[in-house]
Amino acid sequence: MTFAKQLRLLKPACSVPHAFTYQEQVFSQDSFSIFAGLCAVDNRASVEKTMRCLASLGLTCTRMGAYKPRTTPYQFQGHGSSCLPYVFELAGKYGIKVIAMEVTHDRQIAEIQHALAQTGNPTGVMLQIGTRNAQNYELLSSVGNQTDFPILYKRGYGITLEESVLAAEYIAKGGNQNIVFCLRGVKTLLGQPHRNLVDFAHLPIVKRQSKMPVCIDPSHSVGNLLSAPDKILDIFHIAASGVIMGANMILLDIHPDPAHACVDSEQALTLDSLPWFIEDMMLVRETYLKRTQLNQRHAIKKHVQTQEAAWV
Ligand code: PEP
Ligand code: MN
Repeated sequence: MTFAKQLRLLKPACSVPHAFTYQEQVFSQDSFSIFAGLCAVDNRASVEKTMRCLASLGLTCTRMGAYKPRTTPYQFQGHGSSCLPYVFELAGKYGIKVIAMEVTHDRQIAEIQHALAQTGNPTGVMLQIGTRNAQNYELLSSVGNQTDFPILYKRGYGITLEESVLAAEYIAKGGNQNIVFCLRGVKTLLGQPHRNLVDFAHLPIVKRQSKMPVCIDPSHSVGNLLSAPDKILDIFHIAASGVIMGANMILLDIHPDPAHACVDSEQALTLDSLPWFIEDMMLVRETYLKRTQLNQRHAIKKHVQTQEAAWV
C-alpha cells in the first residue's frame, strides 16, 4: 500500500488523527456512535416512529435517505427535498443531533441548507457520499468546498482501497477535513450469498494510513436478516467483527415495518430489535477497549525491553 504522504488526510507515521466535533458529537479514531435509521424516508409516520424509538434508547444520531440512487431507474428514487422539512422538524422534536443523508448532486447541499434554515436549524446533517459516487470528483469537490456539514464517504465498491482513500482526499483538498470513511463491502460474486464481500478487515489499514474515523455499514454489506445456528444474525456478527477492530461508527438500516420499506426492505431490522443490537455492540465495544489496554501493556513492555537491550 503506497498512499502518498503529502496529502491532507493521509498521515505520516507520527501525526495525530483528525478528530472533530459536530452538533456536540465527537468523531475521531477513538469515538463510537451508532447511526441507525431509514435507508429511505418513506413517510412522516415512519420517520416519527423511528426517531421516537431512537430517543427512547438514548441515541442522538440517525440515517435518513431522501435522495436515493437506485440501480434501476424504475424504482423509488427517494422523496428528495419535499421530505426534508418534516425529517428535520421531527429530528428536533426527538433530540436527534446528526442525520447521515446521502447527496447525489451538489444542488442538494443547498436544498438541505435551505430546509434546515426554514425549520430553524433543529438538527445537523452529515452529507453522505454513496458508493456509486465514490469517484465523482466534482461532487466530492463540492462537498469539500463547504464546511457547514461533515462528510460520510462510502468506499467505492469496485475500486481499490487506495483509490477510495485518494478520492476522499478530493473532499479534504476542498477545505473540509471533517470526514468519516465508511467500509460497506465490495462487489464481487465471491461475496455471495451476502450482498457484498465484507471488507471490514481493511479497518485497521484505513486508521493506520489516514486520519479519518472509520464507519462500518453491516446492513449494505450483508443485505439480509439471516442468522447462524447460534441465533446471532449475520448483520450482528459482521458488525461485531468491525467493532472488535475499533470501528468508530455504525450505519444501520432499521424500519418500523421492514416488509413495507420502500428500499432495501430485506436488510432492515425492526425497531424492536434495536435494543438487542445496541446491547450486543456495547459488549463488543467494551471488549475492544479492554483489548487496546492489554495490547498497549504488551507494546510498552516490548518497547522497554528494546530500550534495555539497547543499553547493554
Ligand atoms: C445507503 O447507505 O443507503 C447506500 C445507498 O449505500 P451504498 O452507497 O453503500 O450502496
Ligand atoms: Mn440502502
